[in-house]
Amino acid sequence: MKVGLIDVDGHNYPNLALMKLSAWHKAKGDTVEWWWSDLFQFDLVYMAKVFSDAYTKDAPEPMNAERVIKGGTGYAITLENGVEVYHAERDLPLAPEIEHIYPDYSLYPELTKETAFGFLTRGCPRGCAFCHVAGKEGRASKKVANLSEFWSGQRNVTIMDPNILACKDREDLLAQLVASAAYVDFNQGLDIRLIDNDVTALLGKMRVKCLHFAWDNPAEDLEPFFAKFSERYARKDRRTKVVYVLTNFGSTQEEDLHRIYTLRRLGFDPYVMIYNKQEAPRETRLLQRWCNNRVIFNTVPDFRNYDEKLG
Ligand code: SF4
Repeated sequence: MKVGLIDVDGHNYPNLALMKLSAWHKAKGDTVEWWWSDLFQFDLVYMAKVFSDAYTKDAPEPMNAERVIKGGTGYAITLENGVEVYHAERDLPLAPEIEHIYPDYSLYPELTKETAFGFLTRGCPRGCAFCHVAGKEGRASKKVANLSEFWSGQRNVTIMDPNILACKDREDLLAQLVASAAYVDFNQGLDIRLIDNDVTALLGKMRVKCLHFAWDNPAEDLEPFFAKFSERYARKDRRTKVVYVLTNFGSTQEEDLHRIYTLRRLGFDPYVMIYNKQEAPRETRLLQRWCNNRVIFNTVPDFRNYDEKLG
């Protein structure tokens, strides 16, 4: 069988579902390649889309395929009154024998040359209003794999789990990451509220270039948690601790600035994320430009003095 793949979001980030589908088809003896034109006939083409239409427009279906299968969270989200709504019935989970296969990293040779990607857990108990994880994966964080399922000695490993620290097996999983001696990136952020002394100690032993956290809801006072972590985490290099700050989801600019200034004072690097950016107020987009440009952020510490001509 000849199988074609379309990464609708582009090729800037590896699509794990496509890598697993490719590995599964190749194991069956099928030919797998990127779909790139209508010239050649395919038996089956997969179109995968992670992001909603607000970020990635859908691509036209290929005309030269016997069958087209579209899947991914991006096809299950609609934008209703400026808010993304997830429709579980439109999502298409992978079959277990595909979900747990070692991914075909050769699809993205540049992005995965020295980096493994995968999930050790799925789900999150928090159910934040702007997030689709609870609807898609459930309101509990559960172990779904050991590291060896998608890592085989690469120098770096990117863990895409929504909330690994909410999983009861977290210490086992963190210990696996420590033992790998790979550089670990938790790219969805660690839940600062769930970090205790044992987790801090394991993170202290782990090779990391950057730890990611989030402070999304200004109504939650996370300052004590960040302060405690800052005190206890052995590595004092502030560049290794980035905190996503969600804006344009019901927060005022005063609340946005409070989170940004508090995090900076505690030795973290705030990084502004904008919900529904197309419809965000100009002030919020300026705030993002000021905060996320490290040179400007460090040389103009007060947002009131930011001049957009700077960049
Ligand atoms: S804590 Fe993170 S993963 Fe969990 S619901 Fe909130 S945003 Fe989603």
